[in-house]
Parts: sequence; structure tokens; C-alpha cells
Amino acid sequence: MEALVESIRVAETRLPKWVYEKLLRAYEENDGVAKAQLAAILKNIEIAAKESKPMCQDTGLLVFDVKVGERFPLSIEDIKRAIIEASRRATGEVPIRPNSMDPLSGYNPGDNTGKGVPIIHIDLVPGDYLEVKVRPKGGGSEYPTRLCMIPPSKGIAGVHECLLRTVYEAAGKPCPPGIVSVAFGGTVEEAFKLAKSNLYREGRHEEDRVRELEEKWLDEINQLGIGPMGLGGKTTALDLKVDYLYRHPASFPVAVTFNCWAAREAALKMDPNGNWKIISENVRPEDLKKIELGGADGIELKLPVSEEDVRKLKAGDVVYLTGTIVTARDEAHKKILEEGAPIDLRGLAIYHCGPVVKKEGDEWKVIAAGPTTSARMNDLQAQVLEKTGAKLVIGKGGMKDELLEDFKRLGAAYLAFTGGAALLAAKAIKRVKEVYWLDELGIPEAMWVFEVERFGPLVVAMDSHGNSLYKTVLEKAKSKMEEMLR
Ligand code: SF4
Repeated sequence: MEALVESIRVAETRLPKWVYEKLLRAYEENDGVAKAQLAAILKNIEIAAKESKPMCQDTGLLVFDVKVGERFPLSIEDIKRAIIEASRRATGEVPIRPNSMDPLSGYNPGDNTGKGVPIIHIDLVPGDYLEVKVRPKGGGSEYPTRLCMIPPSKGIAGVHECLLRTVYEAAGKPCPPGIVSVAFGGTVEEAFKLAKSNLYREGRHEEDRVRELEEKWLDEINQLGIGPMGLGGKTTALDLKVDYLYRHPASFPVAVTFNCWAAREAALKMDPNGNWKIISENVRPEDLKKIELGGADGIELKLPVSEEDVRKLKAGDVVYLTGTIVTARDEAHKKILEEGAPIDLRGLAIYHCGPVVKKEGDEWKVIAAGPTTSARMNDLQAQVLEKTGAKLVIGKGGMKDELLEDFKRLGAAYLAFTGGAALLAAKAIKRVKEVYWLDELGIPEAMWVFEVERFGPLVVAMDSHGNSLYKTVLEKAKSKMEEMLR
């Protein structure tokens, strides 16, 4: 049990070394807003490793890939029970955010378990050992996953097109730069399984012809210029994994999937006597390079803000907020529209965030509080702003272009916080003032009321004059993509 809880802790708090090294390289190669985003990511990784805290507030759904030796003394059922119990314990001890919820009722049991969760894949192998890989998978990088069933006559050109269009549509949603993986052939589920497992493969494919595709297509993805967090830059993907299976003549599935920069994994090995060790190479505090945060000069805003203040903001400005902000994700947006907001939100900021919190005595402590994928709130945002009078929306990945008209009409703006930089965000939260709908919606979906001081840096990504950084970046990416597909 200790071994499993510890491997969950390592996966959540210390990034695999190979991913960290690729992020460092990207930091060296980028400049401007892109470099500032990468600096925030690297700073966040540093805090996580030094303070042994989850690097992102979305601590993911817990996925375990297990190899059990035929002669290992525990049965498969015992191992499954131990993994479920370790997930419960890690929820309180690491701590990790309770992320499992009933898709029908929205009920969250609060301990990262439930039907099918944690996700456990078990293979029986020769030998007497146990190997467990823990791969917490965040929701933001899962969201843009796509399956293309291409006409078989399109062949590899169809794979190429599916890949580029999926990366283009994903834009900033999976917290780029991360790992992109494409697998084709086989059946739908086998293509996905292969694409998923390759997200964790370090290095290139063993076949030259596949390796060439990995290098060529990675270069093309980065030429799209989507960049860190979709705000533009040279690095959209840290790496691309390509793989294939033989296929049926009449079907050609193509699975494209993503890992964000928080491409988390830890592995442990246990012998038949119960001796164990972590066998994955994860960054240690002494491996970290010192990074300076960019964008210290920004516009200081006190909340509540006036419409006039918001109308002064222009896309590309950097902002720091002081005052009250409230979290609201999908469920809280629905509740606001059904029942009204539980507090006066006029002039305040709505933060798309499901924090990791811990109760200490009577007080809630915020452990991690990075932004979640804002696109999920696309359809409800304008109504929520209209109904509550809130003026600012904070999130990651941007929102649909149609909202620019609403922002113009309502005098509102969208501010981007570096996706996954949850510990940086938590440092600016001075106190939890209140929490609403906690019992009903669970920790991530509840409405948390935070008092913040210099919360940021936030980039004005969609302003109240019809400008959107995402739109500009995506327009360029689209014409580049069409050129590549010609
Ligand atoms: S880094 Fe972004 S996509 Fe990844 S888990 Fe965190 S919020 Fe989700």
C-alpha cells in the first residue's frame, strides 16, 4: 500500500525527467508571451518538486498500467483492491483532487473511486515481480482527443490531415506544449490504446519509416505557431509519437490523443518479498534549473472592477488582480442560471477552476488552483455574465469567437492564466472566504470564493473591443495548415 501511495505522490509532484528537459529546451527556443508561459510552467514544476505538491490542480483520473508476474504472490483481485485503497488514501494524503463523478447524477464520492475508477489495466507476464505505472490523466488534454474514420483510399495523406486538423482544433485546450500521439489501423479501440500508451514512450519509434513521419509531422505541428497555451509561439508540441497496426481493407481508424505539459507518470517495481522501489526517472529538486518569471510589469486591477476599467484593457495586456474571485465550472454555471448566484458577483471575476483544497481545522487551504479548459463553458458564459454582472472571466484555452460580441456588449473580458500553473495560482490566494454547493457538486465543481492578491500574470486574451489573441493565432495556423495539406 505504501508503495502505491508513494508512486501516486511521485507521479503527481515530479514530472518525468525527459518531459522536463524538453520543456527547458522549448523555454530556450521561445520568446515573448510564449517564453513567459513556459517560465510559469517551469516555475510551477519547481514549486511542485520542492514542496512535494501536485503540479496541477487537475490531478487527473488515476490510470494504472500493471504487470503481474505469474509467480507474484498476490492475486489480481488483491492487487486491484490495493490500488483502489491506495487511490482513496492518496486523495487525502498527497492530496489529490477528487475527480471521479457519476456521469448521470453528477455525484462525486470524494475519494477518486467509482464505477470503472481508478482505471486499472492488468497484464499477466512471466516472472515473480509486480510493476505498476501510475499515469494521472487530466481532463483538459483528454477533451480534444479525436477519432477519424478516414476513407481507406486516402491512405497516409488522410492520417496526416486528421492529425493536423485535430491539433489545430485542439489549439490551447490541452495546455500545450505537450505530447501528441497518433496511431492508425487496427480497430478503433486498439488504435486508441496504442496512441494512449505511446504518450509515455520516451524517444523515437524503432522503424525508420515511422521515425521519419514523427520528425516531419512534429516540425509541421510546430510550424502552425499555436504555441504555449494557444497564445502563439514556436513550440506547440514537445514531441509527436506515431505508430500503426495492420488494418482491415475496408476500415482505416486514426486515433489522435494528447498529453499536456504535465505528462505525468511514475513507475514502481516490487519483488515477491514486498521490497519495492520507484523505477521511473522523475525530476528531483536538485535537477531543476532556475527560471525567472517574466511579465512582472502588468496592470494592477482591484476587484470589483468597473466596466470602464475593463474597456481600457486590450488583447495582449498583462493583468494582476486583487480582491474577490469565484470559481465556477460546468455545473456551477448551470446552477447560477437555474438558481442565481449565491453572492453578488457584480464587477467580480469568474475563474474556470476546480481547485485542490484541504480542510485544516475550520479553514480551507488551497493546495493547487490552476485554470480549467474554458471552452466547456462556451454555451453558458454569456448568460452567466449577463445574469450576474461579473466582468472578467479567467481560464485557459480561450472561448468561442461568438463571445467577442457578448464581451463587447457587456463590457467584459477573458483573461488567460497559464494552464496547469496551479501552484503559482495557489500562492496568490490568500484565503478561502466561502464555499457554495460543496455537498451537492463536490470539490472541483463547487463555487469557491477566494480572496486574492496580485493574482497573475494574466494575459488579456479576448477583450471588449472584439479582439482575440486566439483568433489571430488560429487564423494564421489555419492558413499554414491548408498550405501544408495542399
Ligand atoms: S496541465 Fe492543463 S491539461 Fe494538464 S492536467 Fe493540468 S489543467 Fe489539465
